[in-house]
Amino acid sequence: MATSTTLPPEVTTLNPKSAKITPGGAFLITDAAPVDCIFPEDFTEEQRQIAETTANFATNEIVPASDAIEAKDFAVTRRLLKEAADLGLTSVDIPEEYGGLELDKMSSAIVAENISRQGSFSVAFSAHTGIGTLPLVWYGTPEQKAKYLPRIASGELLCAYALSEATSGSDAVNARARAVLSEDGTTYTLNGEKMWITNGGIADLYTVFARCAVPADPNEAPGGEIKEKLTAFLIERGTPGFTNGKEEHKLGISGSSTTPLILNDCVIPATNLLGEVGKGHHIAFNILNVGRYKLGNAAIGGAHRSLDTAIRYAIDRKAFGKSISEFGLIQEKIANSAVGIFAGEAVCYRTVGLIDKALAGVDKNDTKEIQKHIETYAVECSIVKVWASEMLDMVVDETLQIFAGYGFVEDYPAARAYRDARINRIFEGTNEINRLIITGWLMKSAMSGKLALMPAIKSVLDEVMSGPIEKEEREGPLAEEFDLLASAKKTALFAAGVATQKYMQKIADEQEVMGAIADMIIEVYAMESTLLRAQKIADAKKQPTETAIAMARLYAAKAMDIIELSARKVIAAASEGDMLKTQTAILRRLAKHDPIDTIALRRQVAKHVIAAGRYTL
Ligand SMILES: Cc1cc2nc3c(=O)[nH]c(=O)nc-3n(C[C@H](O)[C@H](O)[C@H](O)COP(=O)(O)OP(=O)(O)OC[C@H]3O[C@@H](n4cnc5c(N)ncnc54)[C@H](O)[C@@H]3O)c2cc1C
Repeated sequence: MATSTTLPPEVTTLNPKSAKITPGGAFLITDAAPVDCIFPEDFTEEQRQIAETTANFATNEIVPASDAIEAKDFAVTRRLLKEAADLGLTSVDIPEEYGGLELDKMSSAIVAENISRQGSFSVAFSAHTGIGTLPLVWYGTPEQKAKYLPRIASGELLCAYALSEATSGSDAVNARARAVLSEDGTTYTLNGEKMWITNGGIADLYTVFARCAVPADPNEAPGGEIKEKLTAFLIERGTPGFTNGKEEHKLGISGSSTTPLILNDCVIPATNLLGEVGKGHHIAFNILNVGRYKLGNAAIGGAHRSLDTAIRYAIDRKAFGKSISEFGLIQEKIANSAVGIFAGEAVCYRTVGLIDKALAGVDKNDTKEIQKHIETYAVECSIVKVWASEMLDMVVDETLQIFAGYGFVEDYPAARAYRDARINRIFEGTNEINRLIITGWLMKSAMSGKLALMPAIKSVLDEVMSGPIEKEEREGPLAEEFDLLASAKKTALFAAGVATQKYMQKIADEQEVMGAIADMIIEVYAMESTLLRAQKIADAKKQPTETAIAMARLYAAKAMDIIELSARKVIAAASEGDMLKTQTAILRRLAKHDPIDTIALRRQVAKHVIAAGRYTL
């Protein structure tokens, strides 16, 4: 039995009302204030309770069952998912009327972070509670919800989401699986095969995507070609013609179930259509936004656990007569990881806070409006996904290097964490696809006038042409870093402007340029989030702030280097000759900054967490 206390159903987790609503992508062209952002320091008492309940459950119940989970003893995974459901952890996003807790997105993200102490279980859990359950919550009819959601909330039913196929992963809308409506309109027959489905071998209820003929548009001329478009269906395990293939042998998260699904003349009632015929892509993409920010939170949890093992090991391990934690090069790895987690918490929770704030006035039953608001932050969701998955890979790699020989053998935790982390850059949209989404989404918003990006680019160009670059008067321990942030935004806008002028509508064909612009955007967001968090900690004067300030300074320096390099790459691709020389000179002025002593700052951060024996502020 779980030793943790159950989440109280009456928990309400409203975030501070002081934060103002900002549109998605606005961070590039406007300055946020610390008060506009939610960070872990702002969690309510209830949210802290949720974090503690989840962390206790993960530590006391999931981690000890790790060997059984990794051996694919799915009875253990199922039992633990049921126990998690008994605690309320799997029903945070399920409406109260169907037996769920219906809490805010922040609580859901907190659960995602704190459950993440065993990679395989964490993936099974998030596939079930996120992409597995949300399509039904958002698109189900009242009858479908009444039939399944109470049993999902109680942990009786486990869910999976089947979009990918062997020949269509990233371009999932080109799925080959087909669904055909019977002549009397009472059933659909599905044929095809799905690939790499998490919980494929153990789920009870599957959201399956297939192409389906869209009813003729009455406005179109008769005899026009019938279109087949992606459509979602609910399929129960045990339905004749629906089976799962064998478990995949994977590089990591080996204890999670990943199988193909086979649809062989699988007949389901027409009432199992989810949403509208031909609108499956809306379901697929909207669900992925949630999957992406939750993946970010799970990655933070994984990184936190990995660094804690590295710190403990580094303290205990002796070489040349000392603890290896005393070596500068080991301290550098520990500091880099700690900064990554501090920045990661800032990036992820800021994003979830933005979403919660936007949802605050929305009717909880108006799922269309909820999705619309979440979609507004699609660019932030993709940033979280890319940034956090890459930060996690950095942390598990540094941890493995600290464990060295012991890191390379399976008896120690570093090897599995290293392998488990790698999937995060692949699913929920590969990081390449998400980078293209980030730049593409912003360009589209700019072109449509939704985001005043073009005027902002023009104003930077005007400023650099008209003389010295203005600096705001600032005070405080991070004054120089906020200056750097202003330069970072101008640099990113300048390089994006150069690329837009050169490639115009054809910029999508220049993927490397799109990728470099995405890197600048990602780093601007991460830099700003980290600085705002440290500033907010300093303003609150509740705890010693030196470590937070040091971490923010370190992150800002690193982010600026990436932004400058990416800008250089973009303008070198887009310009040549005298124009390139002029633009390079402008870039030098825009990105000009004095070096800071990152060695001393890293030592300071490392000493702090080594003294604590774990990652902490
Ligand atoms: C363990 C695991 C669990 C999974 N769970 C699920 C699940 O539960 N449900 C589900 O539906 N799917 C699931 N997937 C599938 C996963 O979402 C896909 O693997 C992923 O979307 C990538 O698709 P792909 O593997 O076909 O790669 P591809 O799309 O073939 O891509 C191959 C490479 O080309 C790049 N690429 C593709 N298109 C472009 C482009 N336009 N521009 C630039 N680069 C491009 C990709 O980034 C990648 O590097 C899972 C996969 C794994 C491994």
